[in-house]
Amino acid sequence: MPQVLEGTPVRAQILDRLKPRIQNLGRPPGLAVVLVGQDPASGQYVRNKIKACADLGIYSDKLTPPETSTTEELLKIIDTLNHRADIDAILVQMPLPKQIDSRRVLEAISPDKDADGFHPVNVGHLVAGRPAPRACTPAGIIELLKYYRVPLDGRKAVVVGRSDIVGKPMALMLLAENATVTICHSRTANLPQECRAADILIAAIGKPALITDDFIAPGATVVDVGTSRITTAAEAERLGKGEDFARNGAAWVGDVHPLSVKRVAAAYSPVPGGVGPLTIAMLMANTVSLAEAHTGAARSTAG
Ligand code: NAP
Repeated sequence: MPQVLEGTPVRAQILDRLKPRIQNLGRPPGLAVVLVGQDPASGQYVRNKIKACADLGIYSDKLTPPETSTTEELLKIIDTLNHRADIDAILVQMPLPKQIDSRRVLEAISPDKDADGFHPVNVGHLVAGRPAPRACTPAGIIELLKYYRVPLDGRKAVVVGRSDIVGKPMALMLLAENATVTICHSRTANLPQECRAADILIAAIGKPALITDDFIAPGATVVDVGTSRITTAAEAERLGKGEDFARNGAAWVGDVHPLSVKRVAAAYSPVPGGVGPLTIAMLMANTVSLAEAHTGAARSTAG
């Protein structure tokens, strides 16, 4: 049986290591979360983030400008937050309503308050190998791989997906760990063949169960970032998720076929329960690191 790379114990370790660092600061770190409009999924993500802050002793401020907000109004909010001494980190929940220029808004966040690590200055720091806030999902995946002692140095890593929030920063972080990295995407000529070369395969595509037996080298470690909701019983059954469907009326599946990965891989992250729990933990880690930079507090604990 392959090893299951569960995210929950990794999250617990990340959060435990943040606690003494928060104590050391002399004041609570502060995270501002900007949620524009009423999208229910975004609302739930924001509630989860605020709860994680409360559990850890991080001050959070939720700002909820209306759905009809303009880019200029958002830029004013960001400017105010950039100047607030009690706010160390700013997160703008995506997606924003269509009339708002998301890029301008994200780039208006001061790089030293960039909770998500999306600002081009911080992407540049990642490229240059300098410390800076890092994109939370790929940073969480590095923590997952390290926790389970998956060797990266000198190994072949293949990342499927080249988004700014997962695929690209993931590839850079694996490179920083001395993996030999290939990035694949929708125009890659022979995706199964590229993937089969991987010791570590990261799937960040958003296409349910696309990665099947053919894509996975025997003995590979497979990390599944995708999260897609399956809403028919037949599809859930086909993917081995019949029980989940019967219990919840829906089931979650990743980009990796859940039955294939169990057959072929040496280790894999499950969906749900693998990568998912780590993203918010890394948001908390970024917030604490930024607060340390703002207060001049020395880091008392690594990680
Ligand atoms: P995205 O922005 O839509 O990017 C998807 C990437 O996959 C693109 O680079 C695209 O290639 C590539 N792709 C699409 N179809 C492909 C195919 N048939 N073969 C090869 N590559 C293909 O998505 P994202 O934001 O990176 O997210 C990816 C998945 O991760 C989604 O399911 C998302 O929900 C999930 N996610 C989960 C978490 C978490 O915390 N668990 C966090 C973030 C995202 P092109 O560039 O050529 O179009």
